[in-house]
Amino acid sequence: MSFDLASKDFYLMLLDNALSKASKQISSVGDRVLEVRPHLVIDAKNTVLTNLGQLAKTLNREPAHLARFLLKETGRAGSISEDKLLIQGKMTHDEAGKLIDLYVKEFVKCPVCNGIDTRIVSEKRFRFLVCDACGAKNPVRRI
Ligand SMILES: [Zn+2]
Repeated sequence: MSFDLASKDFYLMLLDNALSKASKQISSVGDRVLEVRPHLVIDAKNTVLTNLGQLAKTLNREPAHLARFLLKETGRAGSISEDKLLIQGKMTHDEAGKLIDLYVKEFVKCPVCNGIDTRIVSEKRFRFLVCDACGAKNPVRRI
């Protein structure tokens, strides 16, 4: 079996097309890799999460929401300064990484389709995680 040049090009074009469609489907079901590694500067008494703003942007959440979660879960005090989070006490990379995983699991990932195209919607006293991919709506904690 042999292709002449023209039909081979056509075949490659079809293949290309199929591949780009396949990769789009993968991202829409939420297999996108999230780059959510915390960058910490730790000194004797305090920890600074230097990429709070970037993490919040990647997760499509308010920096203040992610900051409240990190502080509340660990019972630490802290404050936001520009796009950094100043934390009183030491927080290790391991601890911060685990906390961010928990945050993603509770406040970002759709429990139905695992998609990450979600938003938090307020209705009266309640908060819901609404998924733009599959339409699921699930209650989440208010923090
Ligand atoms: Zn979903």
